[in-house]
Amino acid sequence: MLIMRLALCTMLVILSIQGATQSPQAPVIDCHQHLFSPAAAALVSGNPNAPGISATNLIEHLDSAGIQRALVLSMAYTWGKASRAPVANEYERVKAENDWTAQQVAQYPDRLRAFCSFNPLKSYALEELARCSKHPQLHYGLKLHFGNSDVDLDNPNDVTKVKKVFEAANGYRMPIVVHLRTSIDNNRKYGADQTRVFLNELLAAASDVPVQIAHLAGAGGFDSTTDSALSVFTDAIAKHDARVKNVWFDATAVVRPSMSPDDLQRIATRIRQIGVERVLYGSDAAANPLLYPKAGWSAFQRLPLTPAELRVVATNIPPYMRHFAAAR
Ligand SMILES: [Zn+2]
Repeated sequence: MLIMRLALCTMLVILSIQGATQSPQAPVIDCHQHLFSPAAAALVSGNPNAPGISATNLIEHLDSAGIQRALVLSMAYTWGKASRAPVANEYERVKAENDWTAQQVAQYPDRLRAFCSFNPLKSYALEELARCSKHPQLHYGLKLHFGNSDVDLDNPNDVTKVKKVFEAANGYRMPIVVHLRTSIDNNRKYGADQTRVFLNELLAAASDVPVQIAHLAGAGGFDSTTDSALSVFTDAIAKHDARVKNVWFDATAVVRPSMSPDDLQRIATRIRQIGVERVLYGSDAAANPLLYPKAGWSAFQRLPLTPAELRVVATNIPPYMRHFAAAR
């Protein structure tokens, strides 16, 4: 009996320690999600029978994590991926992926919102942006993936093309989510210098709309390259640089299971330099169990942030995720 009581006591102590160190508040919004049409899943995986990820699949994942809403970033840009052989009728495929994503989120108007996407270096970029700006589900914002699209921030021609897209999105008042990390496949340079080009040339061209920097300026995980890119933003924030006043950061997939306490501390320090009130939680596509929203949020809670700081991140709502349809 005594042994049982002792065991029970120990269990209660463990539970209360967990309660004290973990924030019970699940994120209100998952700010970085993707759906895959069956065609896009087949393209990306090379498996013609790949099932894709539907809105219904995503809603199940969100429900199991207790997350109410998600920002769905269209995967249309992958139809113009720079390091893959070109596909026939590329622009038709891009439109079809954006439209499929729109139809999916329209099934859950009180929970999901989509941003349109495309490769900003393609000849159809401005045409697709104009089309999205008038679309009932796609006008909310734009997702650009500099790695997938191979936007080279050291190449003035690329910067000029992307600047036109930023200016046009600003004109349509469409917020922008940007995966800034340049192409790893094509060995593009990336770090503080390239991030300064982004700040000076691109961010300055979209000063009227919020801009969300994906993966804390990296590509998932957190290496020294990401840290030096991010330092350009944290320096600008420290100096109250007006160009970063509308900038948000998603911490999607930055915490990896293998990370040491030092790595976690480095990320937490950067998050505090950014300011927790502009850091957003995101999971990324539910393509493997480590990225499922429930697993992603528990990984995020490994960061040495206080429960109060975690709560701020969990309850942050960027302007483009407000004013949803009433729950049905
Ligand atoms: Zn993503």
